[in-house]
Amino acid sequence: MLSPSVDNLVAQLTRLPGIGTRTAQRLAFHLLRVPKDEALALAAAIVEVKERVRFCRECGNLTEEEVCAICLDARRDHSVICVVEQPADLLSLERTAEFRGLYHVLGGSLSPLDGVEPEHLRIDELLARVERNGVQEVVLATNPNMTGEATASYLADRLRGRVRVTRLASGLPVGGDLEYADEITLGRALAGRREM
Ligand SMILES: [Zn+2]
Repeated sequence: MLSPSVDNLVAQLTRLPGIGTRTAQRLAFHLLRVPKDEALALAAAIVEVKERVRFCRECGNLTEEEVCAICLDARRDHSVICVVEQPADLLSLERTAEFRGLYHVLGGSLSPLDGVEPEHLRIDELLARVERNGVQEVVLATNPNMTGEATASYLADRLRGRVRVTRLASGLPVGGDLEYADEITLGRALAGRREM
């Protein structure tokens, strides 16, 4: 409609989560309006994260090194691992300041209907960590929705007998996302975790 390059920018923006055509157009017009430096800074930031950021070899968190800062931190409790779906969930839990152990980021939740099977998540890596490192407790902090609960049950079955397995206490909004839970609710859910 406007120009092939504007159309292309709008099409690329539409691929982002939560961005419909109208919003994509607004963002594209905004980028056309701002000084060139400002727009290119956004493009450069995207290039930089894609080149520098990778997954921690141990836990799957985002990092610019081989192993992330949390895994390397000797003051943290290396005998407890909190399992989350995504790096954003890890950030939510860190904000509560309730948890001083390590994390394991699965990279999603089990959802056979969407083709997500155990081998698509970092589950083998979790089991290997539990075997290897003298882990005493695994806290399952997957989302309190259908796929998150299914993932927690699956992991509890795989881990039972090898290690203490706990799940975040209820009180989190059912069907919700950890990422959007407030710090107090999430902190309480963590403090009141139950055996699984
Ligand atoms: Zn790590």
